Amino acid sequence: MGYCFKHILFYRYGRCPKCLESEVRALPAAAKYQLIGRENALLANPWKLNQDQFGVCGLATPVYLIMRSAKDKARQLFEATFADVIPDFANTKFLTSNYGPQSVKFRYLARGYRLKQRDWEKERPKKLKQTMERYEPKLRQVYSTEQTLNVGREELRKKVDEQLGQWHGELLVDYCLSRALGYIMKNTAPSRYTSEKINFNSEFTDTGNYRDVTRMGHLALRTNNAAFVLTEILGAKGVHIAKQKIEASVPLAPPVSGVTETQFETVARLHNLFQTHASGRGSFAMAAVYAGLLKQKQGLMVIKKSGGDARFPRLSYNHWVNIEKFDLTTNNVELLVWTWAKFWRVRVDKNVFLSYIQDVIFGHF
Ligand SMILES: [Zn+2]
Repeated sequence: MGYCFKHILFYRYGRCPKCLESEVRALPAAAKYQLIGRENALLANPWKLNQDQFGVCGLATPVYLIMRSAKDKARQLFEATFADVIPDFANTKFLTSNYGPQSVKFRYLARGYRLKQRDWEKERPKKLKQTMERYEPKLRQVYSTEQTLNVGREELRKKVDEQLGQWHGELLVDYCLSRALGYIMKNTAPSRYTSEKINFNSEFTDTGNYRDVTRMGHLALRTNNAAFVLTEILGAKGVHIAKQKIEASVPLAPPVSGVTETQFETVARLHNLFQTHASGRGSFAMAAVYAGLLKQKQGLMVIKKSGGDARFPRLSYNHWVNIEKFDLTTNNVELLVWTWAKFWRVRVDKNVFLSYIQDVIFGHF
C-alpha cells in the first residue's frame, strides 16, 4: 500500500494513479495535435497500427480492422478514447452494437501505459549492461589490444542497443485505442472481462499472478472473447469461428450468441472455409497463431519444418493476427498476414501448417 501526499490518496500497486495520469498527459505524444496527427495517419494507412511493447494483439487486431473497413467507427473510438484529453471531444461516447453508448476513462488507460513505459526505461540500461557483460569474454578472445577491444565493444553496444528497440511515443494512440476496447468490455461484460484476466492472462506470467500482466497494460483474449469484442462491441456481421480441435489448458470463455462455429481437421478444409467466409469486401480472418509463424526477415519467412507444436504444453496459440490472403499450392500454404505494423508474406509447408494455427474468426464490417 502506498500513499500520495500530492493527491492525498492511498493506492494498492505501483504508483499513485493520478500522478501516472498527469505524467502521461504531459508527454509530448499526448499533445492534441500529436494525437490527431497519429489518428489521421492510421486512418490513411491502417496497417501502420502498432501494438509496440504491449501484449494487446487480441484488441489491436480489431482496431486495425475498423481502421481498414469501418472508418466512422474508428473515428468514434478515437474521440471517445481521448474525450478526457481533447476538449473538442469532451463527453463523446462510443456506440457499441449491443450495449448502447459507452464512455472511456483516460485515467484507466494512462496507468498501464505509464507503468509499462517506466518499467521499460528502467529495464533497458540493465539489459544492455547484462548483454555486454555476457559478450565480454568473447570480445577479449577476438580483440587482442586494448584499443581494438574498445572499438569492438562500441560496435557491439550499438548493435545491442538497436536490438533492444525504442519506446515509440507516437504509439500512445495505438495502445489507448486497443486498450479502450478492453475498458469497454470491462464495463459491458464484467464477468467475461474478469475471468479473462484471471484465467487466461496468468498464462503469460512467470509468477502465475495475472496482475503482473494487466497492470502493465497487457490484456490477452481467448477466441470467444475476441469474437465478443468484434460482434457485441464493434458490430461485425456474419461472425463465424473455425476451430482446430485441441485440449485447452485454460477454461474457454463463454460463447457469443449468434456466432456460429465449425471445426477443421485439414488444411484443405481450412482453405475451403477461407473461400466461403473471407472473400467479400470488408471481410476479415482474425487468426490465433503461434508467433513463431512470423519472423523478422524482410517480411518473408519460409518455414520448412514446424517450430510450433500442436501438443504445446500450455498455450495452443500466443498471437492474434489478420490473415489477408490464404492460398494453397501443391506443397505450401501461402499467406499474407497483417500484424505489428506490417504485412508479412509467409510460406509454410502444408504438412506442418496446422501446428501454427489454432482458431480463425471470420466476419465482415
Ligand atoms: Zn499522486
